[in-house]
Formats: sequence, C-alpha cells, structure tokens
Amino acid sequence: MRLREKIAKLAEFNEESVFNRVEDGNKNLGIICSGISYQYAKETKPDAGFLKLGMTYPLPLLKIKSFAGMYKRCIVIEEGDPYLYKSIRAAGVNVEGKHDIFRLGELNLKRVNKILAGDNTPEKILPAGKAPQLCPGCPHKSVYEVLKKLDCTVPGDIGCYSLGTLPPYEAMDTLLCMGAGISAGLGLRHILPEEKAMKVVSVIGDSTFMHSGITGLVDMVYNRPPTGHVVVVLDNSTTAMTGLQEHPGSGRDIRHNPAHKVIIEDVARAVGVENVDVIDMLKSPGDIEKAIVKRLSEKKTSVIIARRPCILALKQMNKKAQEVQEGKS
Ligand code: SF4
Repeated sequence: MRLREKIAKLAEFNEESVFNRVEDGNKNLGIICSGISYQYAKETKPDAGFLKLGMTYPLPLLKIKSFAGMYKRCIVIEEGDPYLYKSIRAAGVNVEGKHDIFRLGELNLKRVNKILAGDNTPEKILPAGKAPQLCPGCPHKSVYEVLKKLDCTVPGDIGCYSLGTLPPYEAMDTLLCMGAGISAGLGLRHILPEEKAMKVVSVIGDSTFMHSGITGLVDMVYNRPPTGHVVVVLDNSTTAMTGLQEHPGSGRDIRHNPAHKVIIEDVARAVGVENVDVIDMLKSPGDIEKAIVKRLSEKKTSVIIARRPCILALKQMNKKAQEVQEGKS
C-alpha cells in the first residue's frame, strides 16, 4: 500500500516535472518520444510538436492527454517494445504507434520516416556480419583446439572464452550465466550415461572462477558425480572481457595496488579436489592435451589450470603495476 501511495505521488510530481519537455510545433503533427527516439524524430520532422519524456514511469498521463489533444495527429515514436504507446492507449488517449516490424532493431532516420508515413513494407535483411572471434594469439585457443579434437561436451561460462561457442571452434555447448559452467557440467556428469559423462569438461575463466566458480567446485566434491568431473580454468590473469579489471586472483586491488592474491590451485586443493594440474600455456602448450586426456580417463575430481596472461592485456597490466610502484597512479 505504501508503495502504491509513493507511485501515486511520483505520478503527481511527474505531471509538473522539468524532465518532460513540450516543444510547440505545427498543429498537424505531435510526436511523443523519449531518449534517442527524440533525436531521430526531431531530425526527421523538425516542424512537428514534441513531448519529450524524460521520466517515463509513472507516466505524466494528464500532460500527455493535454498534448495529444492539441494536435490533429499524434504519434508515439519509441524503440523496442511499445511501452509508451500501450500505456498511453490504455489510459484512453488517442495516439498512433508503430507497426510490429519496427519493434526489433534500433531506429534510424529512414525507419522513423517509414513509421510516420505508415509505410509497413518489409525491410531489407542485411547480410550477417563476421562472427566475433578470440584474438590472434589468444592463450585460450589451444584449449579449445584440444576440446574439439577430443569431441568433449563443454559447459562454458562468461568471459572472452565464451567466444569458444562460435566458429571456428564451436567447442562450447552451453553458456548460461557466471558459474553455470561448473554446475551445468556436474548436472551432465550426473545424468548422462557413463561413456558420455566421461567426456564432459567444464571451462571457466579465472575472474569468473573468483566471482562464482568456487561454489560449483565445492558442489563438485560434495555432490561428487560417480564419474568425477574435469574443470579447466582458463587463467588469463585478468578480467579481459570487461576491460582488464583486477580480481581477487590477480594480486592487485581495483586501483592496481598490491593486494592479497587468492591462488586458484590452493583453493581447489583446499576444498578437496583430487587432482590439480597447472599448465604454463607459454612454456609447455602441448601439456594441456596430455592433462585433459589423462584426467578424462580417471573417475576423479580434477581441476586443470591453463595459465597464460592475455596477450593484449599483458603490456597494460605491467605498465599499471609499474606506475603503482613508482607512485604515479
Ligand atoms: S582479450 Fe585476451 S583473453 Fe580475450 S580473446 Fe583477446 S587475447 Fe584472448
């Protein structure tokens, strides 16, 4: 009840708030819009009247009704689902919306022109672009080559290495959310027939491991599948996908100052994982295949850490560490 009262007060506030701007224009056309849709519509019809909404929940329905009543034709221009259009129509205000073909994809000047002209002819489908790939020289590549070669079933996780789902490797079979690589792998190990279960290998990055992989590891030893399980930690020593942030395993805090380093292999041993291998992917890249083949053949719990810093990040990581040491950062 208190929440409803608050929303009612906010709606009242929004009727007069400075966030919603009316721009008078030619009375033949009024446009209700918000955000980037305003830029497109303004460029397309500079002479029209505009109600640019800056606060879209709860909607200032009295203001909208009054605006729509001033124009011969009033249309809502918005990207994506017709939230504004449906809400305004539900309040009994007579406005036009866009055809369903414009619900998907971003708007642009051409599309806004089509909406305003009521032109619903199908749009040209653009050819698909090249799929993103791991960088040339990425340390994760050789792991995927091995997993593909061994025809493993690979539940994966979130990071640069998620690109292992795409060509040329197509070596990752599931990708759900952070930490799901290990837990989905355990589920598969439990339910698949033994022969197939023994081909399941979970992959997870070092940063994701710190974020939500450790819980999966605990589950692996606690609810141990009869065939055991194999987890490969793709340790590039940073959080490459989102911009090289530090994490508890990098040994530096968020400002790159030295901090306590959580050692992945120590965590794995401490929770009770039976086999822990650390492979230096620079010095002995061939060892990863031997390690995966060996651990897949055993009915044990295994963690293989494939370690090599991201080649793109290495220079930057060293530079930041140097700056911190010299007190420049
Ligand atoms: S940013 Fe680094 S870890 Fe990510 S794909 Fe490129 S080389 Fe690999």
